[in-house]
Amino acid sequence: MPELPEVEALRRALDGPVRAFPVEQAGPAHVATLKTFDPPLIALEGRRLAGAERRAKRLLFPTEDGELVLLVHLMSAGRVRYLRAGEAGPKKPAFRLRFEGGGQLVLTEAGPKKRAGVWLLTPEQVDLELGHLGPEALGLGAQRLGDILKTEPRRLHSLLRDQRVIAGIGRAWANEILHTAKLSPYALSRDLDREQVERLADAIDAELFRGLELRLAGAKDTRVYRVHNRLGEPCHVCGTPIARVDYEEHTVYYCPSCQTGGRVLKDRRLSRLLR
Ligand SMILES: [Zn+2]
Repeated sequence: MPELPEVEALRRALDGPVRAFPVEQAGPAHVATLKTFDPPLIALEGRRLAGAERRAKRLLFPTEDGELVLLVHLMSAGRVRYLRAGEAGPKKPAFRLRFEGGGQLVLTEAGPKKRAGVWLLTPEQVDLELGHLGPEALGLGAQRLGDILKTEPRRLHSLLRDQRVIAGIGRAWANEILHTAKLSPYALSRDLDREQVERLADAIDAELFRGLELRLAGAKDTRVYRVHNRLGEPCHVCGTPIARVDYEEHTVYYCPSCQTGGRVLKDRRLSRLLR
């Protein structure tokens, strides 16, 4: 799933092209992809987008007149691209915007499940839609993170992924961040001392920034992730094989030497059943 670095890289790539020409045709949109009907999609036609913005893992395309906002959430399998005039596009996009001049913004989604979404909203509706989101992860800082950790007694991996608490991090970057911070995915937020909070705040910025730089350079997952999806491969810091544990509905990757003092984490769902 694209997270803050991936969506931010995408935003920067789309910002120029989407504002170059007014929208000529809005749609087609797959019935499962378009989540709103009022205002109607056709209301975008003839308007010019002001560019691309981002909030958490969502892309926002406000119209230049300030009246409408197109919001896109890629979820796990959605992909959005700008196709220049004449460039071949997918036959059945989940969503498409065609611009005067011939360029197109195209959303596709691999697999049978249609989970990615497109919303056409007024700015007031956007505020309601995004009101539940916590502060942006990048640039959060130790002070604010410390306050969050105190008020949210949770395991770190779960807390980092909770968009209502901190916005922009998903399971891949939670793995990377906790590894860099040398903290266990199961560590309890309230148990962190000041030095650990600072380490975590630094790791959030360092990892998300590293991810953004790599994604801007076009790097693929295998080059970007050093811990995520690397079961059995040597930890890039200490050489210990990366371990994996199922936690909630997620698979967590970590280094037992760097993060858990050599302990192998148990599947918590299983241990709860056996207790
Ligand atoms: Zn290690």
